Amino acid sequence: MIRANSGNYFKIRQCLNQWQQEAVCKAAKAEITRYADDWNRRIAAGLPAFDEAVFPLALAADALVNVSDIIEKQLVSHEKAQYLIKSYLQSKTCEEVIAKGLSDNQLRMYIHLVCLTVMNIMAENIYCEEVSQSWLQNICPACGSAPALAYYDDNGKRKLVCGTCITHWQFKRLGCAVCDEENHNNIQIVKCGNDFPGWSVQVCKTCYSYLKVADLRELDQTPDWIVANVSTLPMDFTAEKWLSENF
Ligand SMILES: [Zn+2]
Ligand SMILES: [Zn+2]
Repeated sequence: MIRANSGNYFKIRQCLNQWQQEAVCKAAKAEITRYADDWNRRIAAGLPAFDEAVFPLALAADALVNVSDIIEKQLVSHEKAQYLIKSYLQSKTCEEVIAKGLSDNQLRMYIHLVCLTVMNIMAENIYCEEVSQSWLQNICPACGSAPALAYYDDNGKRKLVCGTCITHWQFKRLGCAVCDEENHNNIQIVKCGNDFPGWSVQVCKTCYSYLKVADLRELDQTPDWIVANVSTLPMDFTAEKWLSENF
């Protein structure tokens, strides 16, 4: 079983970034582009590009073998890695996760990051800016997931960032990205002190959801969104506290 020290998140992400430069990954990217036209056709028809069958399990297993070897100095077989990832993806409840031998938090973190990375590789290879201009939905045009984050780009346009594949897509500038509430009186902006300059939380008083938002015009550089989603966790606590105190 792969084990990891706590606080390894950033290290694993770095390692996966490096893995993305490797030959096996480059070959997989070339293979993936075969599907690009089909996927873009689905987006143009208003459907998310991927269906469930397309998850690149072998590529994900390669990534897991790689990070385990480099960070944990532990060799996991490709078959075992495939089994673990498949079990993780198929588990719907905590009990199932534990029953399948995935009770280790750190192992789940590895697999979670590996899945994000390979989904991102697929999304990067199919995502076509022109086609996505027509996409105005609040779910990801690549994989159909909900947004995890949002940001205002250099032109002040709002983009949503997918929590599953890190695709970005444009969305109307104001209003709730969950329930479509457009009355600005029902959207509360919660600032998070000085800890996260350039970031705020948009809380919707209609559906009690919230979205963490970065303003790129106030940041020195564009964040690594996978890392940013975790490093801004205190903002989630702030938003949840605000919601519990006000509703
Ligand atoms: Zn996505
Ligand atoms: Zn809402």
